[in-house]
Amino acid sequence: MKIPFNKPYLSGNELKYIRKAVELGKLSGNGFFTNKCHEFFKTTYGFDKVLLTNSGTSALEMASLLIQAGPDDEVIVPSFSFVSDANAFALRGVRIVFADSGLENPNISVEDIRKRITPRTKAVCIVHYGGIACPMDEIMNLAEMNGFIVIEDAAQAVDAYYKDKPLGSLGQLATFSFHETKNIISGEGGMLAVNDRRYQERSEILWEKGTNRTAMLRGEIEKYEWLDLGSSFLPSEMTAAFLFAQFENLKSIQRKRVAIWNRYYDKLKCLEEEGRCELPKFPEYATQNGHLFYLICRNREERNRLIEELNRRSICAIFHYLALHQSPFYRKHHPEIKLPNAERYASCLIRLPLYCTLKKEEQDEVVKAIKSFYRMQ
Ligand SMILES: *Cc1c(COP(=O)(O)O)cnc(C)c1O
Repeated sequence: MKIPFNKPYLSGNELKYIRKAVELGKLSGNGFFTNKCHEFFKTTYGFDKVLLTNSGTSALEMASLLIQAGPDDEVIVPSFSFVSDANAFALRGVRIVFADSGLENPNISVEDIRKRITPRTKAVCIVHYGGIACPMDEIMNLAEMNGFIVIEDAAQAVDAYYKDKPLGSLGQLATFSFHETKNIISGEGGMLAVNDRRYQERSEILWEKGTNRTAMLRGEIEKYEWLDLGSSFLPSEMTAAFLFAQFENLKSIQRKRVAIWNRYYDKLKCLEEEGRCELPKFPEYATQNGHLFYLICRNREERNRLIEELNRRSICAIFHYLALHQSPFYRKHHPEIKLPNAERYASCLIRLPLYCTLKKEEQDEVVKAIKSFYRMQ
């Protein structure tokens, strides 16, 4: 493909810092660069406690362990999302309750959450789709009234805000991803934000295989012991070194991505005005962080033809997600349910190429191909 969907972006010091990590002679995790990343995130956004993980998925698995979810519990998850939001809890034997998206954008519908709350609802895992905030005041109020925990899947939401608060700082727990398709990358990588103090001490223990090794590294104890459940959730120093270089350039990465996003928006707005397709919508309390740009076509057939037409012109556009409530694994164990908005996004949404080094001329080619598909020029 001449214009791929994604290209990993090296912002400057990635290779230099990996070399430095190697020269420091400590390649495993929880070292110099891991601390640098933690400190960066805490001072930039005011987070109280963060822990780098091997992936967004493993941060979600940590969240699931931390809330001590089990077979007597239900967790509400948006159906239109990545499989890890369901898997992380299903792995603990939790009953997954899928909720629908809203009409305005693919984010979970608060109305639909309300309908699915039962006395067994332990948590709601919400996803800020495309870095566009869910209505957090409403969700946090609902959680307080009904006594459940809110986990923010902020995998796509680095450097995005709800009112003036950074996403990932509002729920008791939040997870980020640094997978190579995200804004800030380390190949595979992720982070857990532990906003509720009650979980902080235990989070360090789960992170280090169920031991108090972190306390030992701080010199608080002499030898570490097995204290709790846990796993190897922490990334190596080489990964953290790469990630720290990205963190240092976060503002410039974000500027580049947001400029591309805005340019798509301006150039494709006419399609929405002419009723051909819909552009992303975001409420006034949300910002956009240049994570992904999507269009919503009128139906599945048209969406698929548009993807084919772009592919024919060597432009890689893709769709996601297949609605989780319709997935083979879920259907094997549960009766059929209908979530019309999630199904609509799964059928009609298309994502356009968006990466830091996408050139203006390339972006113009994408825009031109879409407009000619809709016979707008
Ligand atoms: C990317 C992503 C994840 C998973 O992140 P990994 O780092 O790939 O495990 C989870 N949820 C959402 C919404 C994502 O976009």
